[in-house]
Amino acid sequence: MEIKKAEFVHSAPTVYNCPNDIKPEYAFIGRSNVGKSSLINMLCNNKKLAKTSATPGKTLLINHFIINNEWYLVDLPGYGFAKRSKTEIKKLDQMIKGYILQREQLVNLFVLLDIRHEAQNIDLEFINWLGESNVPFTIVFTKSDKLSLAKANANVEAYKKVLKETWEELPFMIVTSSEKRWGRDELLGYISDINDN
Ligand code: GDP
Repeated sequence: MEIKKAEFVHSAPTVYNCPNDIKPEYAFIGRSNVGKSSLINMLCNNKKLAKTSATPGKTLLINHFIINNEWYLVDLPGYGFAKRSKTEIKKLDQMIKGYILQREQLVNLFVLLDIRHEAQNIDLEFINWLGESNVPFTIVFTKSDKLSLAKANANVEAYKKVLKETWEELPFMIVTSSEKRWGRDELLGYISDINDN
């Protein structure tokens, strides 16, 4: 699939304020700084579409982008919020979980993980919660250009080993680099395949 048109549509504070449309949605989530905005911008060939962490006052909302007038790419706020108040964390948690569990248009969730880091509890807890909640998801490793190919492969294998402790069948995984545009065709092809089926 090629992305011919990508446009920002709407920012919603809760699932109830999301666009009134039935087109399929593919959402992206990950901890702050994982490279989510860079990945979205790389996929859409638009350096400014999603706001990067460097943007002051980056909003914590559910952001919808319409792609080729066919499907929505949804940019979710990150989970695991250090430096935030308990009330704020609870509100964001409810917003994210509300969208993931209640949005019928959600076809697949892409969970971003920085390939350089070992499996972290916060990510594992979130992934296990997705499994328990029967949410279809895919793991996307980011920033693979920061490691040698051998080290990147070793880190993916180490991640699989950790997941195998709780998962019988491993989720699908895609290795990407927004810097080098690696994994773009695979990720967009993966979305096309789901859309066509
Ligand atoms: P977000 O908070 O998840 O939206 O993360 P950003 O997209 O803002 O990225 C956080 C930082 O990581 C920025 O300094 C990016 O330039 C850097 N970054 C993101 N993706 C890549 C990548 O694929 N390769 C490299 N080398 N740096 C990246």
